Amino acid sequence: MIRGARTGVFGGTFNPIHAGHLRAAEEVVDALALERMIFVPSANPPHKSVGGEDSIAPAKDRLEWVRAAISDNPRFAVDAVEIERGGASYTVDTLRGLSEQNRGERPVFCIGCDAFVEMGSWREPEVIFGLAHFAVTTRPPVTCGSLADWLPKVVRDDFEIADDGRSARHKASGCSLEVIEISALDISASDIRRRLQEGRSVRYLLPESIRKSVEQSGVYV
Ligand code: ATP
Repeated sequence: MIRGARTGVFGGTFNPIHAGHLRAAEEVVDALALERMIFVPSANPPHKSVGGEDSIAPAKDRLEWVRAAISDNPRFAVDAVEIERGGASYTVDTLRGLSEQNRGERPVFCIGCDAFVEMGSWREPEVIFGLAHFAVTTRPPVTCGSLADWLPKVVRDDFEIADDGRSARHKASGCSLEVIEISALDISASDIRRRLQEGRSVRYLLPESIRKSVEQSGVYV
């Protein structure tokens, strides 16, 4: 179980940020009594595609949308560290930087279970899991069974998994990993981009404060 942590880190492309991201962050802050959740938008990948569902908005736009979307929540903040660093964004670098800044205090990295199962292919997964606690949130349509079944294979032996399969302890570092059941909002950025490309409404899928800016950017049409 995750205890005593104060800061959450929520990485993502946020292309664009939507209600699913915001609600997930809010529920993790609540569940773990965190003081803050820091959104960390990734830099643009080197080969970005333009137009339609696959297009990626410029990093400065994605960052501005995150900033505007979270501005009324005192527990939310944004950090442009990955965008400022440029190049490919690696979570291991971001977490190393944060842990230096916070004199070793371990943050809680917040991640949806769809992204979590892919973590075996991230850079230095065996290091990442020693740098932070992990709050793994449920996300439809994926259903989360026991962590024993879906902890990335390359790190599975590094963990001691609780009998109920809902939490685990990183043996070497003592970091915790916990599954957090959140309200199911089947919203994705790719679905929003598809709707925009087709000229359909995206109202209520993302905050009203950024809807016009996202629509008028023309990035996804
Ligand atoms: P795309 O559809 O382009 O893949 P996305 O909607 O999955 O984008 P990302 O920016 O890739 O958004 O996701 C960042 C993080 O937010 C990931 O950990 C992902 O699992 C989580 N997340 C995104 N949407 C939801 C949602 N609706 N509910 C819970 N978690 C979510």
